[in-house]
Amino acid sequence: MQRFVKIFTHGCQMNDLDSRKLYSELAGHGYQPTEDDRLADVMIVNTCSVRQKAQEKALSTLGRLCILKRGRPGLVIAVAGCVAQQEGEELAERFPEVDIILGTHQLHRLKDLVADVRSRRQLRVETAFGDAIPSMDIVPDKDFLIPPHRAYINIMQGCDNYCTYCIVPLVRGREISRDHGAILSEVRLHAERGVKEVFLLGQNVNSYAGGMTFPELLKEIHAVEGIERLRFTTSHPKDVSPALIECFALLPKLCSHLHLPFQAGSDRVLKAMNRNYTHDSYLRLIEDLRRARPDMAFSADVMVGFPGEGEQDFRLTLDLIEAVRFDVLYSFKYSPRPGTAAAALVDDVALPEKRARLSVLQSLQRRITLENNKARLGKIVEVLVDGPSPRHDHQVFGRTTHNVIVNFAGPSSLIGSTVAVKVTRANQNSLTGELT
Ligand code: SF4
Repeated sequence: MQRFVKIFTHGCQMNDLDSRKLYSELAGHGYQPTEDDRLADVMIVNTCSVRQKAQEKALSTLGRLCILKRGRPGLVIAVAGCVAQQEGEELAERFPEVDIILGTHQLHRLKDLVADVRSRRQLRVETAFGDAIPSMDIVPDKDFLIPPHRAYINIMQGCDNYCTYCIVPLVRGREISRDHGAILSEVRLHAERGVKEVFLLGQNVNSYAGGMTFPELLKEIHAVEGIERLRFTTSHPKDVSPALIECFALLPKLCSHLHLPFQAGSDRVLKAMNRNYTHDSYLRLIEDLRRARPDMAFSADVMVGFPGEGEQDFRLTLDLIEAVRFDVLYSFKYSPRPGTAAAALVDDVALPEKRARLSVLQSLQRRITLENNKARLGKIVEVLVDGPSPRHDHQVFGRTTHNVIVNFAGPSSLIGSTVAVKVTRANQNSLTGELT
């Protein structure tokens, strides 16, 4: 009998990749993915606890599934990801319909746990941290690469940095790097399958230590035939080494875009966050990267309202944004995460003030993003075509090396190829162009 699985993914690209791995694992045991709640035999909520809002969303999905299960006792409900790791068995006290609680180092056990729960109907809680993370070696089936020409590849997991606001070291554990041989085999396999773009993932890829350094790993992957583009995330500014900067000068397949979270522009706040760089050293890093690759584009994460952030501190954040001229900023209001060092500080920036600062910051960034896009008018850009445009018939969309989305008229036969497009219109969050 055919069985079905549905996964609800909350949070980051790492969670998205984990979900694809979970789908692949269960597909090998006869479970087909479905979007239809009524068909699903197994439902998995893959959770994120990096921000309060993400955690609330995941728990609200879980609550809805638990209500569904009351009318369908045969349904298996699993919770994976950071909230599962953090709350463990307590989750089952709040949501007694849950069958499996799967920690961030235990994803490889899902298929056995599902089989066990189906036969014994007993709660399974697996949240131990190990010295290795076997799920990093799970390669998603080709069917779960979306789009099929881009592969996300896990190279490390966890973090040793303990930024004071961040829950990651508690829920993903200490840094564990995947062996470089396994990574290179996966890259070669994807290249044989027709993958053009490799996207390396880890909480702090710059401190990769799986038998070679991160710049060495980039050079090895760069040499793999068939791979045309190489990207990675996330980078910590303090770990961007001269050797990594040099990679942007030496490796043409390395895309001209870097996501480099800065979080705050005030040295006082950066110190309280334990970020280990300053406003000026971050700007020098940007200069060095632009010297190595003059057309480099940047995105970043930033937060407002960290405990003790005054008006002057906030101005320094705005100054840094003006100086770098990011293409994209992921901006948030600070929310204390239980168990972190910052959670012990007084959350003293009032919510209306956090909202006001966020609004000022976002309107500044909107202006810069549009100006950056306007500066691209008339240029010819190389676009790797991802799929049909979701908004316009007879149009496709793709990304430039700068990670900017471009929509243009063209047949769907272009999907997966790289084409030259002339930019004819600059929009707030994308470009419009025409095939040259
Ligand atoms: S470097 Fe990133 S993942 Fe690590 S503690 Fe800091 S914010 Fe969290």
